[in-house]
Amino acid sequence: MIIQNSETTVHEADICIVGSGITAAMMAAHLAEHTTQSVLVVEAGKPTTAFRDRTRARERFLAYGESPWKADHLDDQNAFGTTWGFSPSMHVGGLAMHWGGVSPRYSPEDFQLRSLYGVGSDWPFSYTDLDPFYQEAEERMGVAGEQGPPALDPRGKPYPLPPLPINYNLAQLQQWAGKADIATWSTPSAKNSVERDGRAQCQRCDTCYPVCPTGAKYSPDFTWDALMAAKKITLLTQTLIRRLEADAKTGRITAATGNRTDATGAPVTVRAKTFVLAAGFVWSPHLLLLSRSEAFPNGLANRSGLVGKYLAGHRNVNAYLQLPMELLPGINAQHSLVSKQFMRPGKQSRYLRHDLRIWESSVGREPRLRDDNETLLFGDALLKDWQQRAKGATARVRGYYDVLPDKESKLWLDNTHTNRFGDPMPTMAFKDAPESAALREFQEESLRDLFRRMAKAGGGEILRMENSANDLGQEHPTGGCRMGTDPMDSVVNGDGRAHDHENLWVAGAPAQPTASCCNGTLTFVAVGLKTAAAIAKG
Ligand SMILES: Cc1cc2nc3c(=O)[nH]c(=O)nc-3n(C[C@H](O)[C@H](O)[C@H](O)COP(=O)(O)OP(=O)(O)OC[C@H]3O[C@@H](n4cnc5c(N)ncnc54)[C@H](O)[C@@H]3O)c2cc1C
Ligand code: SF4
Repeated sequence: MIIQNSETTVHEADICIVGSGITAAMMAAHLAEHTTQSVLVVEAGKPTTAFRDRTRARERFLAYGESPWKADHLDDQNAFGTTWGFSPSMHVGGLAMHWGGVSPRYSPEDFQLRSLYGVGSDWPFSYTDLDPFYQEAEERMGVAGEQGPPALDPRGKPYPLPPLPINYNLAQLQQWAGKADIATWSTPSAKNSVERDGRAQCQRCDTCYPVCPTGAKYSPDFTWDALMAAKKITLLTQTLIRRLEADAKTGRITAATGNRTDATGAPVTVRAKTFVLAAGFVWSPHLLLLSRSEAFPNGLANRSGLVGKYLAGHRNVNAYLQLPMELLPGINAQHSLVSKQFMRPGKQSRYLRHDLRIWESSVGREPRLRDDNETLLFGDALLKDWQQRAKGATARVRGYYDVLPDKESKLWLDNTHTNRFGDPMPTMAFKDAPESAALREFQEESLRDLFRRMAKAGGGEILRMENSANDLGQEHPTGGCRMGTDPMDSVVNGDGRAHDHENLWVAGAPAQPTASCCNGTLTFVAVGLKTAAAIAKG
């Protein structure tokens, strides 16, 4: 229902979800199936490049390097202090309009780091508790995967889609990894290995970044379009929520208020019984901090002082190896092998967990316009040079390793940067917990050792090794509203409900206490679905 008055537009719904990213999309789909309550989703940005326009957007990207995503951000809504671990995308579908779709699960150890290894934090639930929500996430977005050895890759039910095929290149690399005693399998991905939901089978055309022209790769707009066509939700775009208002006595959230991000800048109020913050890892804690008031001077949900704290993520060590085998460069180079062997180590004297990914790589084998003598190459000469350079094989290997977050790994309101409405923007500073900082050299050297061992096992050599490009942030960032059982040590409970506000929930990435050592989005969504199930239950 919309109530118009002279000052502000007021929207009313049973459930208000702030943000329209992948976590929100999956939660809205769950709520639409499990409750009769009305759901209103509020998104700061616009819809951007529709599915029907993506083939052309891809053509222009390939021909001119033009971004296929028009209008995917708000110029004045930015986080500072980090160049990595923050993406300014604000549009319908959020960051997952750009994502690669790689969807591994965390390992059971992730939920019990303190109990098993004496580091980091335990989560308030186990891998087994999350397994049904992982399954639901995989089924809703359509994850194609191969069951790894169950001891390394436990799951309650099979993957919804058969795996993306291991092509000739990956089959060769799989044999090579086997020589170093490493079991690998097809990396799970939210990409159609067979036609599904009216979307094409993956054509292996290799532009998953930045855009999939066929719809084989899942993106949240598909879910929003289906929910809106079935009239299951209302999606309010170009509306930035700037404050949540809480009753001073009960702590209940009474309204979300903000403004249109179009030229009018008009004020908007949303009244609802339940509020869900699914605005991603930066903007969810930011909004809670912005919502300070006389009754809640430190912002909402912040009795513990931990809103914006314990930002988490992981780093990687990466290597390119030359191997004595023939690979065919450029054949679905975005698909890879995965191993979880090192995510499930037994008890060990020094803490190290990492994932392992293997790709065919064109590094050192690309076509070039000038030869070693700087002479320009044309036509047949260029082709001949390339054919020669394309012989042999290069593999890329990468291990993400855990970085345990420090309490002072944090985001705060910074008055030196403001948006068009005068709101302070967030500044972030990632920091390793001392126990993690002390392990860093050992962890990175162990990964380099592993890569040397792998090269040797295959009679190859290391071409180049590198660490994560940048210390200012971390990959697959999480945190800022960590979950836990103790209200003095956490912001939300194990279902994502704020300890301090009975009708406020924080969904997905910001609620996570730690960030594992693999791509995180599948887990953000699974955690969000656990929250949606608790909301639906009432
Ligand atoms: C290039 C790229 C490749 C990636 N590849 C992978 C991959 O292969 N695998 C993987 O696991 N992850 C990948 N990721 C990360 C992944 O995309 C994100 O983890 C995921 O999309 C986060 O989803 P979310 O729902 O938590 O939040 P977001 O996508 O950040 O969505 C939050 C939404 O809330 C909106 N919002 C925020 N504040 C407000 C407000 N106050 N009012 C109204 N709306 C608001 C934002 O505009 C945004 O649309 C990739 C990311 C990028 C950029
Ligand atoms: S390889 Fe092509 S079709 Fe397959 S997911 Fe990537 S972009 Fe889409």
